[in-house]
Amino acid sequence: MVAENFAEVEKRVCAACERAGRNRSDVTLIAVSKTKPVPMLEEAYAAGARDFGENKVQEIMDKYPVLPEDIRWHMIGHLQRNKVKYLMGRVVLIHSVDSLRLAEEISAQSVKHDVDTDILIEVNIAGEESKFGISRDETINLVEEAAKLPRIHIKGLMAVPPFVDDPEDNRGYFREIKELSVDISAKKLDNVSMCMLSMGMTGDFEVAIEEGATLVRVGTAIFGERDYGNKL
Ligand SMILES: *Cc1c(COP(=O)(O)O)cnc(C)c1O
Repeated sequence: MVAENFAEVEKRVCAACERAGRNRSDVTLIAVSKTKPVPMLEEAYAAGARDFGENKVQEIMDKYPVLPEDIRWHMIGHLQRNKVKYLMGRVVLIHSVDSLRLAEEISAQSVKHDVDTDILIEVNIAGEESKFGISRDETINLVEEAAKLPRIHIKGLMAVPPFVDDPEDNRGYFREIKELSVDISAKKLDNVSMCMLSMGMTGDFEVAIEEGATLVRVGTAIFGERDYGNKL
């Protein structure tokens, strides 16, 4: 089932790229495997998935050693500072940096482990109280401050817009994120690139691609509904 789903999502990503006049290679499809067991990840890997997204440090720790080495792991969930150290050298990108204190810890741990860490700044674009992320207005300031820290590199922005039935309802938010990244890019800050935009999930990834996403995070459409009933 996972293989068929992955192929179907891949087809939809291709079609969205085509509609938007973009190259397929400009968009990374991240298979969001949180709560899903290793055999399902292996199935996605066999179908061609190489980028996997998790939202818990512990799950990355558990899955990382038992899956192929060429998997690129993405940390997409809320990150506590005391767990940052476990991610060092294991993930290619931390999508969910939303405070200077967190950026400082990632920087300090990167120095300590002698690695460079790429990060995205998570923006709470719709200003939802239930969501993590920094407010739109505070984003530039956080980018400027975090850019000064050693061994971390800001690569762009990430957003989780509202859960909606009609993906068109989020098009405006995706545009806002893109505009914000263009504004930041225009400042030409040292150590800041806005080459990545992580936005779009199962319900709205095609619209996100049309609006400039370079990373889409798709879980349910690949792995099926998640069951939070068990401990994971
Ligand atoms: C779970 C999750 C996703 C995937 O959501 P689906 O709707 O299942 O595709 C994407 N991004 C983040 C941050 C998530 O936590």
